[in-house]
Amino acid sequence: MARYTAAVCRLCRRSGDKLMLKGDKCITKCTFDKRSKPPGPQLGRRRRLSDRGAQLREKQKARWTYGILERQFRRLFGQAERQPGITADNLLVLLERRLDNITFRLGFADSRSQARQLVQHGHITVNGHRVDIPSHLVNEGDTIGWRAGSTKTEYYKQLLATIKGKTVAPWLNLDKQSLVGRVTSLPTPGDVEVKFEGKTIVEYYSR
Ligand code: SF4
Repeated sequence: MARYTAAVCRLCRRSGDKLMLKGDKCITKCTFDKRSKPPGPQLGRRRRLSDRGAQLREKQKARWTYGILERQFRRLFGQAERQPGITADNLLVLLERRLDNITFRLGFADSRSQARQLVQHGHITVNGHRVDIPSHLVNEGDTIGWRAGSTKTEYYKQLLATIKGKTVAPWLNLDKQSLVGRVTSLPTPGDVEVKFEGKTIVEYYSR
């Protein structure tokens, strides 16, 4: 499946915000404060962003945060639109329900891209069955665990030793002995801290 493969710090510079795409490195080695100008040739004084430009930027920030390409993001937006309720909130919940995001939120990986790799390599199970599709949407009550063979890997052993210090999202529950997580409830927008405005994304697609 296609994915963004260039340097992710460029995306932070492009969006003008720290999107925290590299896990712990974002805390220890982030260069954004020293070099926050957008990538590419610097054209002197920057023009004010148009309304459309600001909407586009919010949409891109969401896409980059969750590591999703445009077509998949647009499809998810369509799904959010068809659901009852507020589209921006529905979109956020759908993004959070992705298996790669849940794997990240449970602390199994430092970043969503690392979580995505764990899923794609078949290490993660949902309700006991291996699922290697990062966009798989989990449901309330689902259990997320590890394939039996994966519990013998060095990565898993190291994770067992380090996970004690990690906190998981409030709508998830994690048994830190067995590394099995459970979706106790679907997140509400208040549970999730994000760097983009869902309302602005709705405006972007409403034109
Ligand atoms: Fe790079 Fe992370 Fe800093 Fe963004 S927040 S510029 S991804 S190190």
